[in-house]
Amino acid sequence: MRTPLVAGNWKMNKTAAEARRLVTEQLPALQAIAAVQRVLCPPFPALMTVAELLAGTGIGLGAQNLHWEASGAFTGEVSPQMVGEFCQYVIIGHSERRTYFGETDQTVNRRIKAALGVGLIPIVCIGETLAENETSQTAAVLQRQLRDGLQDLTIEQGGKLVIAYEPVWAIGTGRAASGAGANAVVADIIRPTLQQVFDHPTAQAIQVLYGGSVTGANAAEFFGQAEIDGALVGGASLKPDFIQIVQAAAR
Ligand code: PEP
Repeated sequence: MRTPLVAGNWKMNKTAAEARRLVTEQLPALQAIAAVQRVLCPPFPALMTVAELLAGTGIGLGAQNLHWEASGAFTGEVSPQMVGEFCQYVIIGHSERRTYFGETDQTVNRRIKAALGVGLIPIVCIGETLAENETSQTAAVLQRQLRDGLQDLTIEQGGKLVIAYEPVWAIGTGRAASGAGANAVVADIIRPTLQQVFDHPTAQAIQVLYGGSVTGANAAEFFGQAEIDGALVGGASLKPDFIQIVQAAAR
């Protein structure tokens, strides 16, 4: 049995003061839903504030990225050790990083290894674009992202990953995948590839989330699917919807 996990990706939203207000609002309801692993991923400057608010609540904290080097002349970057001081999770390879900031499967691989090296749980994002989807390249793209992104990881390291299937065409568009469609992608492409990269027990144990325009209204459709273990939530993680989504995961 895989425990459901719902993570909120705040993207580049909320100052530290605004983060304090949002978490203070969400916390009582989130704390009441302990059957679901709950993770908040605010921007870097709000991490310390949110870490203080979440201490002792059982709710996890994640960053939205990290650099693979431990320290040095990398202006503007944040190291795994710096993230690990506050967080238990880190999002890696989000499509916005791949599209706007030149992230590749190779840099994703370096970041995953660096995250695991300091005990962080990577939430590894994969997904095909609309053009790739419409030209029947979904399987090839996801297989490449998994094989190259997870290259040289041990089975033990594989067991520490979370995968988020986020079709790029569904992110922030209001056009979510169907529950059955996303489930088929996980069942037919993602878990078989994880089995090739690691082994059968590991592929079965890894939590695979769906992400892309999840709302309070459609969340139950995803959580009712056998192969989907939760959600990575963008826009709706800043709204009261987030509580409804976590409640749907608990059911
Ligand atoms: C995301 O940012 O990972 C995401 C899925 O965004 P949204 O829920 O807004 O589509």
